[in-house]
Amino acid sequence: MTDAGSETALMTDAGSETAPITDAGSEPAATASECNEQPPQAFLIRSNYLSAPGGNARSVRYRTQQYGAFKDAGSADPGVERAAAFVVPTTFMGLPIRLHRKVVPALKCVEERIRAVCADHPYAPRALAGIRSRNTYRKGEVTSHVYGIAIDIDPDRNPCCGCVKPWRDVALCRVAARSDFERMVMPECWVHAFESFGFYWLGHDVLRDTMHFEFLGDPDRISKESPATPRMQGSPPDVAP
Ligand SMILES: [Zn+2]
Repeated sequence: MTDAGSETALMTDAGSETAPITDAGSEPAATASECNEQPPQAFLIRSNYLSAPGGNARSVRYRTQQYGAFKDAGSADPGVERAAAFVVPTTFMGLPIRLHRKVVPALKCVEERIRAVCADHPYAPRALAGIRSRNTYRKGEVTSHVYGIAIDIDPDRNPCCGCVKPWRDVALCRVAARSDFERMVMPECWVHAFESFGFYWLGHDVLRDTMHFEFLGDPDRISKESPATPRMQGSPPDVAP
């Protein structure tokens, strides 16, 4: 149990930020042969950047360089485009969401994995939240939501037990759970699917924010076809379905 969240984070009304049902549109797609597994980058994980000297500033600087600026956070160079300018509509498990276009292929890899391996744990999300226009962290921290690289799944069913009230004031936060996975309705299988493709689950954090995933992998390594990971010489070409 922790009350760290009471000082560090204030969650907004997720409902008001749930993506409107608009055009699902066309988006970058990834097929099984294209998805590249990767872990989240350690220096971007919240518990790590908060404990490292200069860690928070480095995290903000990296996200600004990779995804664009959020207001004056990260002392962005003049001319750096705002992250919000790169946000596109997409879908996840049939629901609309707006995210930074760089991370959409990673989310598609997650969905593909869930559909392939989580069938024994059926779960149908009802509400998603992605890009957010307001920073809900304090003390110089910047939430990944403002860069469009974070996704919340069903805030009413997957609580944030380390956040401020009313977020932690739910029954699931009061159960004597043996693991973080027992304080949410979402299946653990989903967490592992996200974690396979560079997403970090904030359920591991002191915030116990079980609804929240953020992409902390290398966006240039989402696809095996990306320049950062050239195909090995002599390997067979991909076959179009
Ligand atoms: Zn979130």
